[in-house]
Amino acid sequence: MKDTFKHKGLRKQLVAILTAKGITNTAVLEAIGAIPRHLFIDSSFLEHAYQDKAFPIAASQTISQPYTVAFQSELLEVKPADKILEIGTGSGYQTAVLCLMGAHVYSIERQLELFKKTNQFLPKIGYVAKRLIFGDGYKGLKEEAPFDSIIVTAGAPFVPKPLLSQLKIGGRLVIPVGDEDQIMTLYIRKGPKEFEKHELGNFKFVPLLENKN
Ligand code: SAH
Repeated sequence: MKDTFKHKGLRKQLVAILTAKGITNTAVLEAIGAIPRHLFIDSSFLEHAYQDKAFPIAASQTISQPYTVAFQSELLEVKPADKILEIGTGSGYQTAVLCLMGAHVYSIERQLELFKKTNQFLPKIGYVAKRLIFGDGYKGLKEEAPFDSIIVTAGAPFVPKPLLSQLKIGGRLVIPVGDEDQIMTLYIRKGPKEFEKHELGNFKFVPLLENKN
């Protein structure tokens, strides 16, 4: 569980790459510059940790590409103490970014193995989410709604209705929508039944799985 000067140097380079790709939010860049991403992936693949690439984790899932994490985090327009719901905890890296930005994070994972692993690991390295939940993200988290924002980190074939209805007025849902490839989509809730929709480019995620819990 070491974080050396070499790792810190590699993170600086990664932050420079993300800046060059257009990420400007300083809180996002600071979080990525601070979080030891190498601890979130298998130790035999250390050299991959600070490349701007997705990488396999347990249970045939992936830790999202740093650029994707930065892009989605930026779209959330996080303010300290924002209540945020994440769907797809996975390695917990995106969760850690949001925690470090001062958000109160609730995160749902449907893979038991990953849930257990990340539930133990995150607090160990100092990132404390409000709640990590083993369950189905398609349903959202009604008992904690409404949320300032919701982030989905798996490719959704359609936009689950509960996620839209669990947003505060003014709240933001960031969700990659599509089967093979996904379009990053931002919904802003303007009123009880009004949503503004923005489509923000193509991405590739592992699928958001339904009825498989
Ligand atoms: N945020 C993660 C990305 C992991 S990949 C990270 O930074 O590492 C997407 C994750 O979504 C996988 O762990 C997968 O198991 C999970 N997932 C897929 N369908 C889901 C669902 N219906 N509910 C909750 N999690 C789901």
